[in-house]
Amino acid sequence: MRRFMGFVLAAALLVSLTACAGAEADPDKAQESIQVIAMDTVMIFTVYGERSTHAAYEAEDMIRELEDLLSRTDAESQVSAINRAAAEETVAVDEEVRRLLEAAEKYSLATEGAFDMTIAPVVSAWGFTEDSYRVPSRGELTELLSHVGADKLTLDGNTVSHEADVQIDLGGIAKGYASDRVAEIFTENAVPRGWASLGGNVLAWGDRPDGTPWRVGIKNPRHPDEEPFVGLLELKDAYAVTSGSYERFFEENGNTYHHIIDPATGCPADSGLTSVTVVADYAAGQDRGTMCDALSTALFVMGEEKALDFWRNSGYDFDLVLVTEDGRVIVTDGIADVFTAEDESGYTYETVS
Ligand code: AMP
Ligand code: MG
Repeated sequence: MRRFMGFVLAAALLVSLTACAGAEADPDKAQESIQVIAMDTVMIFTVYGERSTHAAYEAEDMIRELEDLLSRTDAESQVSAINRAAAEETVAVDEEVRRLLEAAEKYSLATEGAFDMTIAPVVSAWGFTEDSYRVPSRGELTELLSHVGADKLTLDGNTVSHEADVQIDLGGIAKGYASDRVAEIFTENAVPRGWASLGGNVLAWGDRPDGTPWRVGIKNPRHPDEEPFVGLLELKDAYAVTSGSYERFFEENGNTYHHIIDPATGCPADSGLTSVTVVADYAAGQDRGTMCDALSTALFVMGEEKALDFWRNSGYDFDLVLVTEDGRVIVTDGIADVFTAEDESGYTYETVS
């Protein structure tokens, strides 16, 4: 019976596929949309064009391979091998991991350590790695912070080594890196338009089938699971990446502790921001998705004033939507014309230049 049902289903699918192919002569209109649960989040790939199905599944395969390389909770991953290694022991890594580690190092330097992949032991002490939340003591954090710092890790070609007790966590940058890889796959498959959402990391590729831009909602950190959003961005060929304290947190004794750690204190960043969205245009061959992800985490740690200084002076090409604890939404002028405020949100809005 089961086999028979399978046949009927397969036949039905075939009919609907044929019907689709017949009705949609324009290859741009062929569409595939898949959902992938990976890297601790829900991802959606919506792809148009003749090779939409191929591109969507190629993106899924790429994500699963990356996850196998990078997961901190999988003992077989290359990141786990790095984290297990003794002082000065060398660990050989794949090209993909090398590229990601190089990027993480670059953005650590650029943000003066606000982004720091070696924050891993501290993230774990708060229980965010294994979902076993606790509040570490000051003494414990001080000890752990003595093993944190980009200078404690050495990349040499395809090998990595580090000082004793140094560990890495690529959770603040890996999804952005994956979004750059999605853009590569879209390019290779001549995808005319598409949408990739990797848990807070969006790639808006081309425009929508009706010729209008893709619309990215910025969540309200006070009510992240409900609309209205605090605003909407209309984007074409761009990345938008959000880091928010609402994404992962726990409560203990009336205090809330979230997952973005200030490497200067070892505690959840208390910077006055509740979310940071970094927006950048896609640029072929560049790491703009990786950049947006690393910077969203780093600028959350920095807080409003330092984040805006960084936006003005760093030389990196991006724009920002900052949401503050005290109810303001700050939009940098490069995206003011593609940002629509939500009147009902209860926030006040400012554009800065
Ligand atoms: P994101 O959502 O991109 O801001 O990344 C947050 C994740 O990055 C956390 O869940 C940690 O795994 C990791 N992380 C936390 N604080 C930092 C930091 N200061 N620098 C780099 N990674 C961090
Ligand atoms: Mg990030």
